[in-house]
Amino acid sequence: MVERTKYILDEADMPTRWYNVIPDLPEPPPPPLHPGTREPVGPDDLAPLFPQALIAQEVTTERYVDIPEEVQDVYRLWRPSPLFRARRLEKALGTPARIYYKYEGVSPVGSHKPNTAVPQAFYNAAEGVTRLTTETGAGQWGSALAFACATFGLECEVWQVRASYDQKPYRKLMMETFGATVHPSPSTLTGSGRAILAADPDSTGSLGIAISEAVEQAAQAENTRYALGSVLNHVLLHQTIIGEEALKQFELAGDTPDVLVGCTGGGSNFGGLAFPFLREKLAGRMDPVIRAVEPAACPSLTRGKYAYDFGDTAGLTPLLKMHTLGHDFIPDPIHAGGLRYHGMSPLISHIHELGLIDAIAIGQEDCFAAGVRFARTEGIIPAPEPTHALAACIQEALRCKETGEEKVILTALCGHAHLDLPAYGAYLAGEMVDNNLSEAALEKSLAGLP
Ligand SMILES: *Cc1c(COP(=O)(O)O)cnc(C)c1O
Repeated sequence: MVERTKYILDEADMPTRWYNVIPDLPEPPPPPLHPGTREPVGPDDLAPLFPQALIAQEVTTERYVDIPEEVQDVYRLWRPSPLFRARRLEKALGTPARIYYKYEGVSPVGSHKPNTAVPQAFYNAAEGVTRLTTETGAGQWGSALAFACATFGLECEVWQVRASYDQKPYRKLMMETFGATVHPSPSTLTGSGRAILAADPDSTGSLGIAISEAVEQAAQAENTRYALGSVLNHVLLHQTIIGEEALKQFELAGDTPDVLVGCTGGGSNFGGLAFPFLREKLAGRMDPVIRAVEPAACPSLTRGKYAYDFGDTAGLTPLLKMHTLGHDFIPDPIHAGGLRYHGMSPLISHIHELGLIDAIAIGQEDCFAAGVRFARTEGIIPAPEPTHALAACIQEALRCKETGEEKVILTALCGHAHLDLPAYGAYLAGEMVDNNLSEAALEKSLAGLP
């Protein structure tokens, strides 16, 4: 008998609904607050930034949301994505564990981000919006939104964190190829950007600053809205197609996960994979341990404070109750750019507070060691972000080797590294350092909480 390596769903078996975990939780997450009144924000407060359909999804109490046909059509360019059994990695580790990974690198931009970029562009276009603004760090989100905007005929304007803009020209070229306009952030085009540059003309930027710039532009310009690639409820909702597919693929495999690991920047690929499994767990149909993995240099879940904070540096967004390192926090320039955000999704933060998931932090050297090990066995070079999940997955598999437990581990391989190879170059040259966050730096940035 052939030992199966991958589990592929037919296009016709692609899930047609996203799953909203909120109604299944023992209590709902605390609401976002208006920064002025400290009252819960209403739809009118969000209308300058988001289309009505997404505002409705942000607060929906429905368990399922139908995926529009037009969005399904675009999804089918790469979905359903494959679930792999990592037999070669298992063998190399000598573990009795069975390791599976759900691979999102098959999308047009090489990550899970288009799963939400496409519906966001669709709903905006359907409501007559003609231009979207956004921020991007390493460029995964910006390129996903640029692709999605091209698909639905929208203009796309991206503020890219200066450090990445200078170091990673390929993502910028990808965004421009899809038709987007890209500015380095901080820029002189916005009040927030000019304020930062006045204080520090050489600022290399941060996601928090780039968000301020994109939000400011969207709030001021006609027919323009803002799009966020992580953190918010509607983004995590769209990403649940990953977990819904994986559940069907586990049925094909005749297996059930005991441990699920994913990397967390804002929490969207992790939530997207984990929430459908959390539904099954809460219903008593399976009982996986669900583990978030974050960088030691930007450890919002493991060392941040669970408090109301701004989503951006200038303080233009509503206050979100989340695990945060403080909105002024500028993380060290680690290579996993997608994990360099000061906060964590309020929904993931809440679920962590409820004790339904656990969280660990790992330094980047261990992560890249895991990435190289994975590449040399499975043949896919993982993006710097999911090397965190793989490092945790390997830790768990090695524990199984000691105890002899045949655990089933599922990990989210949310992207490949084809445009992040310089990070591997630094690792292979022995030039990578672990930037562990000092207690003093953490205290300083937490002092700025509103
Ligand atoms: C953006 C990104 C992340 C971090 O965002 P999440 O919302 O936490 O998923 C992780 N991995 C990749 C490949 C990304 O592009």
